[in-house]
Amino acid sequence: MIVAIDGPSGAGKSTVAKAVAKELGFSCLDTGAMYRAIAWRALQDGVALDDEPALGAIARTYDIAFGHVEGDPVPRRVFIGDDEVTDAIRTAEIDRAVSPVSAASAVREALLDQQRRIGNAGDYVVEGRDIGTVVFPDAAVKVFLTASDEERAHRRVRQNVDRGIGSIDYDEVLADLRRRDEADSSRATAPLRPADDAVHIDSTSHYIEEVIDQICSLARE
Ligand code: C5P
Repeated sequence: MIVAIDGPSGAGKSTVAKAVAKELGFSCLDTGAMYRAIAWRALQDGVALDDEPALGAIARTYDIAFGHVEGDPVPRRVFIGDDEVTDAIRTAEIDRAVSPVSAASAVREALLDQQRRIGNAGDYVVEGRDIGTVVFPDAAVKVFLTASDEERAHRRVRQNVDRGIGSIDYDEVLADLRRRDEADSSRATAPLRPADDAVHIDSTSHYIEEVIDQICSLARE
């Protein structure tokens, strides 16, 4: 069974997806981390971010894998090839690089295969931008999670403070979220949009626990 959670940057998808997975006893797949890992590899290799064939080659060459910190059922560690990139993919530099990488259709095609292979292996909560529309159009539950721009920026700053990585400048974070929303919504391949049959949840003025409960109820129906 697949629970698909899509929505713009910073809407709380990661927190909600991980909590829902824990509650339902499902695994959890963060597809944004996969695009970030490709962006990281491209920067390491000095690949130009508009060189679509070279970006596609990276996505086809490297396997992206997830791992657990001992005692934690949620896979928070991210690997590309032999490199662990768990923290390295959360920097402001990757925030900037990931939009052109995710707009490259050769990258999307290669990651689509990896995402389907992972998700089809069991019960998964999968979060991203195109999960309900493209990756798993037959998902049992589809949620489109949003929140106001300002609330999303506040949450992202708090998350970056907790992690000790990424920008903690509210204005910079807000501008980056808006820039990525625009890039994700206007790209030609798999633009960010809700699936026709998605349940819309606006988390701006709801406790995250309410959102988690609502999605778990949908999955149990
Ligand atoms: O979710 P997160 O912010 O980590 O995603 C990073 C970037 O990856 C997004 O800004 C978006 O461009 C891209 N992405 C995507 N499709 C997905 C997941 C993420 O294009 N399914």
